[in-house]
Parts: sequence; C-alpha cells; structure tokens
Amino acid sequence: MTTLERYGFGAAMRASAGAIPAEETFGRIVSAHGDYFHVVCDQAEGEVLARKKTSAFRSESAVAPTTGDFVRLVYNPSGESRITGVVPRISSFMRVDPSSSGHKAQTIAVNFDALFLLMGVNADFSVARLGRVLELADASACRQRLAVLLTKSDLADDGRLADLSGQLAPFGVPVHPISVKTGRGMDVLETYAAPGRTFAFIGSSGVGKSSLVNALAGEEWLATQEIQHWSGKGRHTTTSRELVMLPSGLMVIDTPGMRELGVMGRDGTHRFHSSGTHRYRR
Ligand code: GDP
Repeated sequence: MTTLERYGFGAAMRASAGAIPAEETFGRIVSAHGDYFHVVCDQAEGEVLARKKTSAFRSESAVAPTTGDFVRLVYNPSGESRITGVVPRISSFMRVDPSSSGHKAQTIAVNFDALFLLMGVNADFSVARLGRVLELADASACRQRLAVLLTKSDLADDGRLADLSGQLAPFGVPVHPISVKTGRGMDVLETYAAPGRTFAFIGSSGVGKSSLVNALAGEEWLATQEIQHWSGKGRHTTTSRELVMLPSGLMVIDTPGMRELGVMGRDGTHRFHSSGTHRYRR
C-alpha cells in the first residue's frame, strides 16, 4: 500500500480525481500554516512543504486548499513543491462567515468519513447547539456523516444519560455516550473507524477532544511520541487545522472551537472558549 493510499486515497478517489499531467502527482494536506502547507505524497517520506502555484488558483472558481484535501502538486525534491489543484471533496463542513459582507463560506473540515459533535454531559450540553450544527451540516450536505458523542458520560448516571439522549433524539442524529475514563462507548466508535478513514471532531474547548484522540491512539503510541503542549504563542500559531494519522491507520482532523464556528450556547451567547490550544500528543 502506498503512503497516499494509507491516507485514504483509494480507487474511487483516484478515479474521480481524473488524469493529471506527467509532471504532477497527488498528495494530501496534513496541516496548513498560512500560505504554506504540509503534504504527504508517494514521492517522499514524511511531509513535504508546499505552496499554491499562483497561476493555478487565479480563477474565481478555484477551490482554496485546506487540511484534509487531496491535491495535485508538482513535487520538488529539493525545495518547495507547488500545489496545482484540489481534488473534488467527498465531504465538507462549512459555515457562512458572518464577518464577511459577501457571506463567504469558511471551510471547517473536508474529506471526513464521520463528523462528530462532542458535547459534555455537564454544562456543555446544549440542544440548541446541535440544531445549529445540523443547519450547517445540511447546508454542507454532510448530515448523514454527523453523530453526537456525549463525552464524560461517567459524570452522569444512566437516568440522566437517557434524558440527555432523549432531548437530542428528535434531530434523528446518532447519539453515543462515551467516556475515556471508563472506556464506555469506545467500542461504538470503533465501528466507525477503519484504516484510511478520517474522523473530524467539533466541540467546545474542554469537552474532551484531546483525551479522546489520545485514547483512540492508544498507550503504546503515546509512549513513543514526544509530548507537545501547543499554545497560541507556539510555532503552531498560524496552523488552523491539523490532520493526525493514528497508529491504527485512522486519521483525525482537528477543527477550531465552537466560538470560531459561530455556534452559540443555549442563551445565545458564546459561552465557550475557542480551542486555541492543541494538546494532542504526537
Ligand atoms: P479538549 O480541550 O476538548 O481537548 O479537552 P481535554 O481532552 O483536554 O479534556 C478536558 C478535561 O476533561 C480534562 O481535565 C480531562 O481529564 C477531562 N476529561 C476528558 N475526558 C473525560 C471523561 O471521559 N471523563 C471525565 N470525567 N473527564 C474527562
């Protein structure tokens, strides 16, 4: 299996990507840093640094690449590679940017097989928030990929969990209580997972995203990784999204917090902090 196949570039994706000029190859963006992207492709081990080829993105209709995208690129073994186009996405989750006059859509995550909204069973729980996320999912045509994870389910008894699940039931979206503390629900999550698949997680800061990624990654993997505490002041300042490959072959796309998403709390205010910090151990 090639690197790119491990990253989810299967036969169907390759077919829909079409033919490319001999000097081009395919890659997947694993992180975005302003104008720079880190890309994996079959021509190189590890990540390749790439920028957009300006002339290829001049057209109004050109899709701007983002983390998770499969792209066409001209690989340069001795310098920056050049991205020449974005392969049609199998899924995307967008929101309309309220700060832009033209209601520009902001891309939150692309090419995910499953999109999980994480909500805590505590004060983080909000029926209204699921409603808002569903509106965005419908506008992005990805409702069928959405599921809710009720995180920290160990903090609620079964009666409370049934009540919370019942409040979300009218939306018709799968709801799974999970706990990384007790392991509850992790088996359900496994049914969504497979090598080459991509998960996207959205949710408030503190909801348990990093804990969940670490639990999915497994102890053995953690032991071999350098533990990084990323902060807004660190070298990842301009990184808006990151795609992480777990040892099982499953990938996870990190997304911004709910505040940046423009998703309100129950009382109509932004009650939650945006997740400016990334604490995945990698
Ligand atoms: P993130 O900001 O969404 O990445 O949240 P973290 O993964 O850092 O978790 C925030 C806090 O919630 C930490 O103190 C975790 O220990 C705690 N936490 C995460 N998952 C669980 C869980 O399943 N049960 C309980 N009781 N606490 C959890």
